[in-house]
Parts: sequence; C-alpha cells; structure tokens
Amino acid sequence: MKPRDRLRIAMQKSGRLTEPALELLNRCGLSFRQSRDKLFCFGEGEPVDLLLVRDDDIPGLIAQGVCDLGIVGRNVLNEFKGIAGDGGAALTEWRSLGFGRCRLSVAVPHDMAYNAPTDLSGLRIATSYPGLLGAWLRENSVDASVITLAGSVEIAPKLGTADVICDLVQSGGTLVANQLRETDVLLQSEAVLAGPQSLPTDERGDMVELLLKRLDGVIQVRESRLLLLQTSRTTLDAVTRLLPGGPQPTLLPVAGQPDQLMLQALCAGEVSWRQLEEIKKAGAREMFVLPVEKMLA
Ligand code: ATP
Ligand code: ZN
Repeated sequence: MKPRDRLRIAMQKSGRLTEPALELLNRCGLSFRQSRDKLFCFGEGEPVDLLLVRDDDIPGLIAQGVCDLGIVGRNVLNEFKGIAGDGGAALTEWRSLGFGRCRLSVAVPHDMAYNAPTDLSGLRIATSYPGLLGAWLRENSVDASVITLAGSVEIAPKLGTADVICDLVQSGGTLVANQLRETDVLLQSEAVLAGPQSLPTDERGDMVELLLKRLDGVIQVRESRLLLLQTSRTTLDAVTRLLPGGPQPTLLPVAGQPDQLMLQALCAGEVSWRQLEEIKKAGAREMFVLPVEKMLA
C-alpha cells in the first residue's frame, strides 16, 4: 500500500455515532472541509482526514490499513474481532469515548419462562451479532440455533422466524414495545477509538499521540469542575477534608488578609448544592464552581 503522511480516521457516515464523534473531534481541535454526502472529509488544520462509512465496515478498514483509526461501537469492534480471526486480533481499543452507550442483551417473549441461559437450549435466537452470541452460548454450554439478521431483530419472535433475540438495548423501550423481556447482558458497549495494537512509526504515529493527549484532556474535562473558595487558615483542614476527589488543591495567599487563603481544586464530576453547603459550614466563603473547557497536563 502507498505510504501516507496524513492520518485517516474512519467514522460512521450517518447514524447514532456521527454527531457525537464529529463534536468530539472538533473539541480536539480538528475541523474538516465537509461534504457530508461524500465519503471523504479533508482535515483543514491538522493532517487528519475522515472516511465516512457504514459502522460495520470500520474495523475491516483499520485491519486492512486503509484507515489508521476508527470511531465505532465496542459491539461492532468485538464482533469483528470474534469472527475475523488473526486480522481482528490486531485491533484494540485505544480509548473509550463515553457516548453511544448501549448493551448487547438476550431478550425473551415476556410470557416465556426463563431462569438461566440453559433454558435457551434448542431455541432459535435472532441476532445481528452471531460472533458475540455464539461465544456466549459456548461459554454457557447452550446448544441453540443462531439466526443472523441484518436488522429488525426485535420483531423476529412476533414474525415466528425466531423464538428469542440477542440485540442492542439502550433504554429498553423497544423491547417493551415488542413484548420482550431482557434476561442476560452479553456486553456493555459505548463508542471507542479503535486502532491497531501498534501505532504507525512515521509522522502519523506522532499525530496519533497528539490526538490521544487531546482526547484525554477533552474526556477528562467533560466531567471536571474547578472549585474556587476562600477559607481561613484555621478552617483549612476541615474544608479540605470535604472536597470532592481530585488532585491536591492549590492554595494562594489573599492580599492584605494573612489569615485567609484562596483555594483552588479540580473536582472529578458535579459538585452538588449539598456538598457546597457542607463545605461552607466548615468555614469556606466566596465559593465558585466553574466548568473546565480545556486541560493539558
Ligand atoms: P450503519 O450500518 O448504516 O452505519 P447502523 O444502523 O448499524 O448504521 P446505528 O443504529 O446508527 O447503526 O448505531 C450505531 C451504534 O450506536 C451501534 O453499533 C451501537 O454501538 C450504538 N448504539 C447505542 N444505542 C443503540 C441502540 N439503542 N440501538 C442500536 N445501536 C445503539
Ligand atoms: Zn451498522
């Protein structure tokens, strides 16, 4: 294959992962000259381009070296790894991205008696994930027939083409609407950044490293808050003990008030009103909770 000097990321052309994936890349400082109806988006600032494809094609494109990285659901990645043998083994999750959360589950008609996976023996199970389902059935010593469907798996029991299903579930609403009951979770999934086990050794490798660093910053700050407050030296210990988890706070002197300190702490996750009220009771004043926009450690 011709060597490339630009990084190429595969992502879903149109579907649940498209908007959040683009937004995440934008937050990492990547922008693209966009023509959504086309397959290819040229990166404007950094040497990073996008290939917009069906999500099912993404692992294969990485395995073949057509793309360096891909943003894809763990469900699709693991299904590929399961059935692609050696080619799939070379792929790995570089980061989990926190969107597109869902689970791959077995669901049975709500009036069917079900206690354990062995109750599925002899039944027909419809799924779009024959690799993952097959592996789970083997692990649980269940002998069932797997019926592979490309879509509309949830209506298979009603149509009589299968007895039970194994499909992606998010809220569970689709299952309820089809009189199905979720019994076993095979996989917890979310969008991941997938790539080969070892990174390219040319400039593209440097670009991947830069992207990973920016991604870590974006993922970390998405949930982070900066807490600012003032406290006297005597109440400092009590206040510090109540701070939500995170690295050691920074202390700054307050001009003209030698017994006072300004405290700055990075908190992982929301800081609730109740937490603030307790910290205030311990002696803090002038409290601010600020969202964090960018972070580079
Ligand atoms: P295409 O193959 O055209 O790219 P698709 O229909 O296979 O699209 P979507 O329905 O857009 O794909 O789902 C993409 C991914 O979103 C799934 O593989 C999964 O990781 C994730 N996802 C999150 N919630 C759900 C859900 N309730 N149903 C299906 N997928 C979900
Ligand atoms: Zn798909």
